Amino acid sequence: MNLIRTIAVTSSLFFSITGIVSAQQKAVFKDKEVVYKKGLKLTFINQDKSFSPVVKQRMIGTFFKVYPALKAEYNEKTAKEVTFVIDTTYKGVAATQGTIVAFSPVWFRQHPGDIDVVTHEVMHIVQNYGSNAGPWWITEGIADYVRYQYGVDNAGAKWTLPDYKSGQNYDNGYRITARFLAWLEKHEHQGIVKNLDQQMRAHTYKEEFWKTQTTKTLPELWAAYVQNPII
Ligand SMILES: [Zn+2]
Repeated sequence: MNLIRTIAVTSSLFFSITGIVSAQQKAVFKDKEVVYKKGLKLTFINQDKSFSPVVKQRMIGTFFKVYPALKAEYNEKTAKEVTFVIDTTYKGVAATQGTIVAFSPVWFRQHPGDIDVVTHEVMHIVQNYGSNAGPWWITEGIADYVRYQYGVDNAGAKWTLPDYKSGQNYDNGYRITARFLAWLEKHEHQGIVKNLDQQMRAHTYKEEFWKTQTTKTLPELWAAYVQNPII
């Protein structure tokens, strides 16, 4: 999920993490576990007493499998300490602010197999773009491209990149942009996602990026994709 649009969510998360909580919130269940592995520290805070321990262990396992790989591929300087919160106050699916990821317990009750929400969200930590780095659809497109590439069980979640349909555009974000990125990687532009990610993190991204990398403009690349969208 987009970082910028989740400020309301993260403020409640911030208060619950710092202990500045209301009397009502204090009454809620809160379980904390810290896991150290591979030079990383994951703090797992669970506010939902009925949260599945199986899903929790899968989330932790996914983090320690995927995050080191993303760190190596995209950003060696990414944070070594990450916090997951099963946040009973959060109404979306998941949201990342800095190094804290809030997950909806309701979502995982209804979709226990959707474990690679973890993969998408921790990519946002690796991205570490800050504000005004570039368009939101690039941020979300890369996060879903990474889920497509590194996901531990996308099949189990029945999560795929949807086939191209007319009416789509490169700036739709999420899986639509991710599929376009996957197409570019497969059609003569291997490494373009890594370069795009670097430019976003350095705050040097401009739309000329596409022409510099491929000799085609972004609309020209999209037109070529529409002509032959096989990946
Ligand atoms: Zn996202």
